[in-house]
Amino acid sequence: MKLVIIGGVAGGATAAARARRISEEAEITIVEKGPYVSYANCGLPYHVSGDIRKRSRLLLQTPEGFDSRYSITVLTETEAVQIDRAGRRVRVVGPAGESWLSYDKLILAQGGHPVVPAVEGADAAHVFTIWTVPDMDRIIEHLEKAAPASAVIAGGGFIGVEMAEAFTKRGISTTIVELMPRLMSSLDPEFGSLISQRLESRGVHVVSGKGIAAIHASEVELTDGTRVAAAMVLLAVGVRPETSLARAAGLAIGQAGGVLVDNHMQTSDPDIFAAGDMVEVHHRVLGRGVRIPLAGPANRQGRVAASNALGISLGYAGALGTSVVKVFDAAVSSTGLTETAARAAGLDAGAAVVVKDHHAGYYPGAHELYLKIVYERGSGRLLGGQAFGEEGVEKRIDVLATALAAGMTLSEVAELDLAYAPPFSSANDPVNLAAFVAGNDLSGFSPTLTAGSLKGVLGASGADAPVLLDVRTLNEFEASHLKGATHVPLDELRFRLEEIPRDRPIILYCRSGYRAHLALRILKENGFHEVRNVTGGYLSITAEGGFEIEEAREGVLDS
Ligand SMILES: Cc1cc2nc3c(=O)[nH]c(=O)nc-3n(C[C@H](O)[C@H](O)[C@H](O)COP(=O)(O)OP(=O)(O)OC[C@H]3O[C@@H](n4cnc5c(N)ncnc54)[C@H](O)[C@@H]3O)c2cc1C
Repeated sequence: MKLVIIGGVAGGATAAARARRISEEAEITIVEKGPYVSYANCGLPYHVSGDIRKRSRLLLQTPEGFDSRYSITVLTETEAVQIDRAGRRVRVVGPAGESWLSYDKLILAQGGHPVVPAVEGADAAHVFTIWTVPDMDRIIEHLEKAAPASAVIAGGGFIGVEMAEAFTKRGISTTIVELMPRLMSSLDPEFGSLISQRLESRGVHVVSGKGIAAIHASEVELTDGTRVAAAMVLLAVGVRPETSLARAAGLAIGQAGGVLVDNHMQTSDPDIFAAGDMVEVHHRVLGRGVRIPLAGPANRQGRVAASNALGISLGYAGALGTSVVKVFDAAVSSTGLTETAARAAGLDAGAAVVVKDHHAGYYPGAHELYLKIVYERGSGRLLGGQAFGEEGVEKRIDVLATALAAGMTLSEVAELDLAYAPPFSSANDPVNLAAFVAGNDLSGFSPTLTAGSLKGVLGASGADAPVLLDVRTLNEFEASHLKGATHVPLDELRFRLEEIPRDRPIILYCRSGYRAHLALRILKENGFHEVRNVTGGYLSITAEGGFEIEEAREGVLDS
């Protein structure tokens, strides 16, 4: 049995090791065009930042190690340039020249490559991408030799955000330029704002809604003509799947542009399997093919591909896109569908936001966590979750990812029996609470709307025009509130009910949603029927942005 694997990092290295564990007989060869195999590309930004001090820590396995421990042949600096499916062989070009490798089964784990935008100057010597160890080496060499004082990062996705932190930690004045209105546009808009705020508070400049038009020697020109100082530039505008070899070999490509595989990671050729960034897989919530270029799926798919290639039937259940990104001392994490993605998929989606300490507030060191869950209104099915905060962020998202994998409804999430003691959580974990809020919305006990939906509602006129009721304290209201809001603090509401119109819909908000929930129940119990609470409150409203805000003039509050 001859197994050839093209690509020797996340998916490929995992597939090779798994194949050896299955069979001592198989002849296993990894073909890798770069100089390294099995390295931690996810760790590259943290070596640039200095958090991972030793470069060698990124190199998880060597060709010699693969040989001695696994008896696997690794051909580095060797590129697979053609697949002859009929002859079951791969043409490779490497240090020893050109040759053909025959296979019984072939696994493709070629990943993707960073997109380089077609702008003037993109090929200049001070312009970089970061995808491989040599990419990282080039960046570090430039930092050490040229000591750039400023950097522009094109692209505010997860690599852009991680590298902004790395450059800032090295004392470089860094600007992220993002074409979309918000950073990390795969998340709901308020998360982009929370990320921007955190980055800006740590000295990173964020420019969004503009692209890069040209790169010059010491500055970058943006699409609106403005110029930003840039002694170096990092392009982090996206990744394309590496499908040219597969396409040339006539393998089927899916609607999302990745190599099409079934749940055994088998391509349209039964002798060829594929895994990782180059494939498209079943999305467990959407139920259709998507590309999810992340390390966890790549590793698990590599394992599945190797198992099936060697005759052990193993299914891949699909992906949820669960991810987490460090943003200096905070983290942002998500799983499943965002509210935006759920609506775009035609689902009748609702969302609930809770803003709550990550552990009991009375125990020292509590940090506020912003957690949003998305659900389907009719069925009450959980669709996704996103969170931002300093502590406990990915723990909540991992719980939600598990709930999504189990196909749970909100009432099942509400009942999850999660670990609690004051240093770790609250008796009602934020995950439980978010499901309570969502359940109260669905049952009509405490209807909510998201800050995003509020915009549409505020546009209504006549009898449909809502009364905006701010139930925070006077200090909070005076500091900043939505234009046109009426202020009745929660603790006065019971005594001021006659001030509130009964013939118009009422929208309540407080800082995070809890006081407005109490206010809503008071109103409902007093015969007000059309009342809704902005989930996530003023925090969501300001993070969502685009509202007319009235703020205290300087000094008014202090006087
Ligand atoms: C800077 C950075 C940070 C990241 N951080 C995270 C993170 O925190 N969390 C996360 O989940 N994901 C992260 N990722 C993404 C993650 O690394 C990828 O999803 C994962 O590595 C994909 O695995 P893969 O095996 O499909 O491809 P890769 O790991 O990219 O490996 C593909 C290999 O195939 C080789 N190859 C391609 N074509 C050929 C050919 N024709 N012949 C021979 N060899 C070939 C390439 O040289 C490459 O080494 C990060 C990626 C980068 C670049």
